[in-house]
Parts: sequence; C-alpha cells; structure tokens
Amino acid sequence: MYVGLSISARILLNAEALNMAESVGNVVRHRKAPVVLKKDNEVQVVYVPAISGESLAHAYQVYLAQTAKEMGLPVCSCCERGVFIKSSDDNAAKKCGHAISKKMGALEVERKIISSCVVEDVGGFLYTPAPAKRTSRFRVGYMLPTLDTLQSGAFGNEPEFHVRFSGADQEGQIPYYVEIGSALYNFTYSIDLSEIGRLSSDNAELGKDPGALPAEERLKRADAALAALKRFLGTMLFGAKRTRFNPQWEVFSLQAAVVTIPFEVTPGNDLNFVRETVERLKALDKEAYVYYFSKEDLAEPEGNERVRVERASNYLEAVAKASEKAMELLRASLK
Ligand SMILES: [Zn+2]
Repeated sequence: MYVGLSISARILLNAEALNMAESVGNVVRHRKAPVVLKKDNEVQVVYVPAISGESLAHAYQVYLAQTAKEMGLPVCSCCERGVFIKSSDDNAAKKCGHAISKKMGALEVERKIISSCVVEDVGGFLYTPAPAKRTSRFRVGYMLPTLDTLQSGAFGNEPEFHVRFSGADQEGQIPYYVEIGSALYNFTYSIDLSEIGRLSSDNAELGKDPGALPAEERLKRADAALAALKRFLGTMLFGAKRTRFNPQWEVFSLQAAVVTIPFEVTPGNDLNFVRETVERLKALDKEAYVYYFSKEDLAEPEGNERVRVERASNYLEAVAKASEKAMELLRASLK
C-alpha cells in the first residue's frame, strides 16, 4: 500500500538573504524567479524573490543525515558531512565509502548504495557507470511569494547598503550591497514514505518486483525522514547568510496531508488552500488525513468518512500528528 505525506505552508520571511544567486561587483543579488500573475483580467509576468528547491533540499538532507545517525541508521561519509555529491560515478562512490564492483548490475548497485546510506535512499542519486537511477523519495520546490500577496503588491526586494571598515591605513570604508527579500512565501514538501527502502523498478528487469530492504529497516528510515522534516520546520534553519541576515519569520498557515495515493496538496496561494485540498481528496475518494493550522481567516475545510480533517493548535503539532498517522498506516501496511 502506498503511504505519503504532503505539506504546504504560508511562511512570512522578512529581510531574508537565504538564497543568493550571484555577486556583481560589490552587490550580492538575491535569487529571483518569474511568476505569472493574473491582475485586472490581464496575465503578466513579474520577477519575485525566490528560494530554490535545491537550497531547501540541501538543508533537509543535512537534517536527515543527523536524525538517521542519531537513530543508529547508516549514512555514508560524504552525506554525513553534508556533501551531497552522491554516488554519481566510481570515484565519488569510492570516496564516500561505497564498495561497488564493475560486475554489479543496476539493481545490485542501488541495493548496495541505499543499504549503506539513508540520505541516498531518501534523496536519490544517479550512478552513471551502471547506470543506476534512484528518484528522490521527497520533493520540494521553489519558495515563491503567495499569489494573493503578489496581487496586492505586498512583497519587496531591495539592495541594502552596508559598509565594511578595513582599517585606517588602508582603503578605509568599503561599501557593499546585499539584496534582501521580504514576502509571505509558499512552502511545499512531499514524501513517498512507502517507497523508502524499496528498490526502483527503473533498475529491475521489466515486470519484475525490484524488492526492498527488511520492513523493520524501512519503518525506521521513514521515521528518520519524518523526524528530519520536523527538525527542518521546527528549527526554521535553512538557507544561507543566516549570521547577519537572519530573517524575521512567522508561520501563518500550514497543512499536512497523509495520503494513500501519490498526491500534492494545494499550495498556499490563498486562504482557500486547505479547503481545496480536502475537496480534491474527497473527489479522489481515497483514505486521507489532513491536519492543519492557521492564524489567518482561512476557509474552513469539511471532511467526510474517507477524508478526515483535524485542526491543530500550532503548526508543528499539525506536522507531528500527520507524522504519527503516516507511521501508523505504514506500520500496518508492512506487517
Ligand atoms: Zn550518502
């Protein structure tokens, strides 16, 4: 049985420099992304501050390496240090401690690598010599300002002036600019929990079951993946330039859905996002559990017998309740 978790949240980040794209002269520029926006019945493109999925995935995998180690699960020497070069070729694999011989087939290579590294199990890799491909079991995307705030123009992106003093006898004051972004951002994250510790059909012979690690190990790994998610959202420590541009933040609303088919919750673009998720799940008529939190004037969702809905008293409680329910379903399905 498939068990997954999908999350979307509306997170306010003020004066952040979490994902810088480049330095031009003495200006460090924030990453920007094009967004299509419908305003006054016209469609337009605006360039908005953004935080890339790669940046979020890096932070998540750092937490995953930590939680996996704490739970006594295997993590390779590269991923343990937060160097996610993964097992891309023989050199990289050897450097990270994976003993792969040239005789191994794709499925054997995959089994070998995921057996010795939870991060590569959950986060995927591409080993080019075999080739053996493992698609990441979790998905994140760009954090972009929510569409409702973009429509009202409530976001900012500004190069801020700073001065570094280099000593009286030298050049003196050196001015520089750091572009900061401020917005109510959309955050999305999904994970295929029942696919953790399961080998990929991409690497198996056509029509053959690729097999899996022992059930007990898969459960522990899923638990570590959820603990890493809780740590990611609980610490709110992701992205770069935290020492001098630590943003002011607040989680306005969050939903966490435990699902029994691969599914993405509706992103938090407006205050209907939880209700819309629940309506979509009801239309799919599959067992699902939606936990949500909000300090906004949210359109309240209405569940039914198949799609259970519960409001939590804070955003981390919603994540914790969803994690607990997901583990319960996974445990029952792996018995
Ligand atoms: Zn690794």
